[in-house]
Amino acid sequence: MYDSNNVFAKIIRGEIPSKKVYENEYALSFYDVNPMCEKHVLIVPRGEYENILDFAKRASADEQAGFWDCFVKTAAALGVDGEFNVFANAGLSAPLFNQSVFHFHLHLIAGEKTPTCINLMKEMLCEK
Ligand code: AMP
Repeated sequence: MYDSNNVFAKIIRGEIPSKKVYENEYALSFYDVNPMCEKHVLIVPRGEYENILDFAKRASADEQAGFWDCFVKTAAALGVDGEFNVFANAGLSAPLFNQSVFHFHLHLIAGEKTPTCINLMKEMLCEK
């Protein structure tokens, strides 16, 4: 069940600060506090959706369009044009990375690899 005390709900309500990239009526994007790469931004719908499946199933057409508009404008604002990764974690026991904030978000990752990014990749490869 969705918990409205999660950190992204607080960012959406303006209760805690974030470094915003873009926002519209239905969604917003802001920098991840613990970036994996040079550019690491989270795109979140304003509506209360726990994960990507919940959003895909229940969000209205306007909410979904607003979310993708936010994605496109965020990529443009970051100068991201064809060289990037996007992912969404779902659930506490997801195979690659666990979801830690239970408000649906896409990770948009671009730019130069950083030591954090390289160490994460090494950890994943070593665990195989
Ligand atoms: P996930 O593990 O997919 O749920 O990703 C949650 C992401 O939220 C992590 O990459 C965190 O670094 C990031 N995060 C947590 N708190 C904040 C915050 N206050 N502002 C921005 N990003 C955050």
